[in-house]
Amino acid sequence: MQPTRSEEALREQYPPLTDHEALVEAHRCLYCYDAPCTQACPTHIDIPKFIKKIATGNLLGSARTILEANLMGATCARVCPVEELCEGACVLGAEHRPIMIGRLQRYATDYVYERGIDVFKPGPPTGKRVAVIGAGPAGLTCAGELAKLGHRVTVYEKRELPNGLSTYGIIGLREPVEVALAEAEMVRRLGVEIKTQMELGRNLAWDEVRNSHDAVFLAVGLGAVPKLGIPGEERMVDGLGYIEASKLNPRALQVGREVVVVGAGNTAIDCATIAKRFGAERVTIVYRRTEREMTAYPHEYEFAKKEGIEFRFLTQPVEVLLEAERVVGLRCVRMQLGAPDASGRPAPEPVADSAFVIPCDQVVKAIGQEKPAIAQMLGLATEGGFIKVNQDYETSLPGVYAGGDCIRARGSASTVMAVQDGKLAAFAIHRRLVQQIGMAAD
Ligand SMILES: Cc1cc2nc3c(=O)[nH]c(=O)nc-3n(C[C@H](O)[C@H](O)[C@H](O)COP(=O)(O)OP(=O)(O)OC[C@H]3O[C@@H](n4cnc5c(N)ncnc54)[C@H](O)[C@@H]3O)c2cc1C
Ligand code: SF4
Repeated sequence: MQPTRSEEALREQYPPLTDHEALVEAHRCLYCYDAPCTQACPTHIDIPKFIKKIATGNLLGSARTILEANLMGATCARVCPVEELCEGACVLGAEHRPIMIGRLQRYATDYVYERGIDVFKPGPPTGKRVAVIGAGPAGLTCAGELAKLGHRVTVYEKRELPNGLSTYGIIGLREPVEVALAEAEMVRRLGVEIKTQMELGRNLAWDEVRNSHDAVFLAVGLGAVPKLGIPGEERMVDGLGYIEASKLNPRALQVGREVVVVGAGNTAIDCATIAKRFGAERVTIVYRRTEREMTAYPHEYEFAKKEGIEFRFLTQPVEVLLEAERVVGLRCVRMQLGAPDASGRPAPEPVADSAFVIPCDQVVKAIGQEKPAIAQMLGLATEGGFIKVNQDYETSLPGVYAGGDCIRARGSASTVMAVQDGKLAAFAIHRRLVQQIGMAAD
């Protein structure tokens, strides 16, 4: 059967490596003793070790090395900003081409997922119960690690499908839905119960969760796209919903002919890429600061420019213009940068009498996500609106831990950081639980 236009548009950006390509690439690795690539990986995957195993044809062993450090290794192989992390640190990058660590990691993890091989087994039961709220990368990692240690874990997830933004938010060019769901299945097969369509604060009561578990891990990510507070905003398309539709219901996705995307983070670039690939003639990203302050990764910015996406910096939208209920333009004003604001970046200020209109028939809002509402609901201490945790990932409520985007008060949110939080929080929860039953922690 011919692929549809939308399937073609968002097919995974890179094809899988062939066996021959993987072997040749693995043999290029110098297996450095101090492995700067491993040090640059937030989950500290033993990269030379997993590459060596590929070189010797031990693909199961290679996948085990990856997944021991990072249970979401198949997602991270695709979505990690490797240019900034492992590949950016590879010693071969200085004079040659760095090793394609991400693609080799994908090669090894795909090997086990495509064959349905279970790499780990659940640990002997400890009798302890843990609740995880949110089945994104942080929650699934924490749940999987705790199951490996023998604890009984239930994950409560408000959406229909597990794996958070890996399933719903990361553009199909980088990660197909099937990869995200395969990781959730692997965690389920470790004995973790994943209860979907269960939302803490709606159809799941906090008292019930706390009273029936020995510890709780909150991994709820962030909230909806915030409001801009401008006239006509109700006619803007929600950026996260746009990406979600492109992955899960592409035939129903409505894409304009001339699309303006508001924002300049990775979400904005992803929305603009979708618009372009789904046939928009002109796609423009508007951002109120300059390219220096953009939060999108530099390689994503370069990619967007190659896709033919235009950028208008120092531009602030002030009104969505409508005619007969249809979007016909976005009124904007020019900005100039002033003194630094609370974020430390220069504050944009409007230039007097500078209003102008960008003609368009669709405006997509991709200006980040709201802080986790759950913090206030549970009365947790916060830091800049994020849930505050100590060095053991414990919140201000004893026995209640948190990790992932919902605690990321500093640094940029990424899947690999969420995975590392989930793993370290699992080890901290395990130490607490074994103390209670007088078991040795290892
Ligand atoms: C558009 C977009 C593109 C991105 N691209 C990349 C990328 O290329 N590379 C990268 O490394 N990172 C990327 N990120 C960031 C990355 O996706 C996140 O950092 C990562 O998913 C965080 O994981 P998490 O588990 O903390 O949160 P999430 O993935 O957000 O998962 C949280 C889960 O909790 C659930 N939940 C929320 N509230 C409740 C509740 N009350 N009860 C029950 N369940 C609840 C949610 O439904 C969700 O499933 C991107 C993010 C976005 C938005
Ligand atoms: S730095 Fe590069 S060459 Fe050295 S071990 Fe890592 S991937 Fe191999």
